[in-house]
Amino acid sequence: MPIIEIKDLAKKYPLPDNKSETFFAVNGISLSIEAGEIYGILGPNGAGKTTTLEMLEGLNDIDGGSATIDGIDVAKEPFKVKQIIGVQLQANEYFDNLSLLELLTLFGALYDRIIDPNDLLAKVHLQEKAQAKPANLSGGQKQRFSIACALVNEPKVLFLDEPTTGLDPQAKRNLWDLVLELNGAGMTIVLTTHNMEEAETLCQRIAIMDHGEVVAEDTPQQLILKHAAEPPEAPLHGNIEDVFLALTGHGLRE
Ligand code: ADP
Repeated sequence: MPIIEIKDLAKKYPLPDNKSETFFAVNGISLSIEAGEIYGILGPNGAGKTTTLEMLEGLNDIDGGSATIDGIDVAKEPFKVKQIIGVQLQANEYFDNLSLLELLTLFGALYDRIIDPNDLLAKVHLQEKAQAKPANLSGGQKQRFSIACALVNEPKVLFLDEPTTGLDPQAKRNLWDLVLELNGAGMTIVLTTHNMEEAETLCQRIAIMDHGEVVAEDTPQQLILKHAAEPPEAPLHGNIEDVFLALTGHGLRE
């Protein structure tokens, strides 16, 4: 069953070189995202990915069309939507003097929720950093902490905007594992990424955006089948071991 329904969603901005004219940064897109899916939005810079997420998150006004999350109209009831979504932004600023534990407790209070901050830190594998300040975390730890913050209200849908940009391979893998764990527990996750391996590994379905429009949407496998270029006429096959065996007729140990 779809948990996010987007119909003809549009956003206009002033043209950078002529402010009296506008252009559609998001040009009437329609998407249907299933409950329990990890759904990826890909596209070059400026394609409209962040603007789309911002409209769904209630952080940006909608200029046309509509979007619902779990049946709630995003434009009409933004506060109700905020209660059921978690948002991890590309960059986060925190109060410098507070520890991770204190920050999570504070965020819980803002949502009027009694939360167990230790439990949340355990979820993102940061238990040992409970007393640390965000400034002292590594890039990967910072990203995982920002996800913990987004989980404070036990969201049904989690939005991640380029969650692994700038992370080293190990930190990236840790974050992928975390995304899969959360999704395994039933959370719908919508993410944007520039990392094709990430999209292929994590996402059950992918929308590719360009110039404010969705140019393709499908499972990674179907997208590859439909759109990847055919392999060259005579592809390289085998490896040097095969060459060795073919030329000598036996392996090294024989
Ligand atoms: P993406 O996330 O795919 O890189 P964005 O949604 O950030 O794309 O941007 C889509 C287009 O809208 C770009 O051309 C960008 O310059 C423009 N844009 C984004 N935010 C604003 C804004 N606040 N004011 C004017 N133009 C904007």
